[in-house]
Amino acid sequence: HDNTSQDEVIRGTNDDATVSRLSAVNLGYFKDPFVQFFVKRPIRRSPIINRGSYIRNYALDNLVRQFLNLDTPKKKQIISLGAGFDTRYFLMKSGQWGDCSQLSKYFEVDFPEVVVKKAMTIKRRAQLYELIQNVRIEKGGIELASDDYFLLGGDLREWSEIVQRLVHYGFDSTAPTLVISECVLIYLEPEHSNMILNWMTQELTDCMFVLYEQIRPTDSFGKVMIRNLQSRRIELKGIHAYPELEDQETRFIRLGWDGAKAVDTNTIHDQYLDRSDISRMARLEILDELEEWHLLAGHYCVAWAYKSITAKDKFASIQ
Ligand code: SAM
Repeated sequence: HDNTSQDEVIRGTNDDATVSRLSAVNLGYFKDPFVQFFVKRPIRRSPIINRGSYIRNYALDNLVRQFLNLDTPKKKQIISLGAGFDTRYFLMKSGQWGDCSQLSKYFEVDFPEVVVKKAMTIKRRAQLYELIQNVRIEKGGIELASDDYFLLGGDLREWSEIVQRLVHYGFDSTAPTLVISECVLIYLEPEHSNMILNWMTQELTDCMFVLYEQIRPTDSFGKVMIRNLQSRRIELKGIHAYPELEDQETRFIRLGWDGAKAVDTNTIHDQYLDRSDISRMARLEILDELEEWHLLAGHYCVAWAYKSITAKDKFASIQ
């Protein structure tokens, strides 16, 4: 019972993430015509949260785009772990990402409870539904499959069962594969997240990983962050195992990845974003709480890793 309610709380973090994304979209930080369909009651978030959502989206999309741009002999696949109500697939299919013809399959995994809700929204909204070819419902109504989009219901802690579903839908371990984990692995015990990362290096010939999650739990801001989450019964099980950027990098290297890099949101803001983008954001909303922004941004990291022949030099940094 306790585990179930804990999982329920973790599933709830998806609604939070979606509301935050919509808030940033509605204020003009970035475009996503699909996220609105997954939010019942929009809430305007603070400027700090909105800027954070923008940078998170910017950095991850930047890395995803590099993967899509790689010249590979085989068609590619993407698998998003704990995808929640992620809309990337729909943005790609609607043409926002340009030519995605090198992408053959897009898999999303989340708890069945989340997957069912997502599938229902997709079926109800023509704008989403019409982007998917040959939709079929599988696994007793839980999963949604199609020509290239696969929504899988399962528990990441039972990885071998997820693997069976992936294989069932034609997951190809020799295809260049991008794995996306956006605020997900942090909710798992390290033994479970490591099992997944280890499986990838063992089973896939050409793979890349893109991760976003909280870091630095022990400084004073980090302690407040953890306490606030705990008061909502949210536990970041992985954060003490990978508290610093170096830990985020070595977690991959130790498990056999060829290269890994981690940066915090401050670095992305200060070194990777265009100055024009920063002034554009300043015109969207005034951000007075600069100090708080720096503190918050120091507690989120983007990490990426690769194990492959094709990606080696190309996938080395956010550009
Ligand atoms: N990746 C999405 C995003 O960034 O908007 C959702 C992030 S949300 C904070 C975390 C997601 O991970 C939730 O949808 C939750 O259900 C999923 N998740 C966490 N633990 C999981 C597990 N053991 N098995 C499957 N999904 C899990």
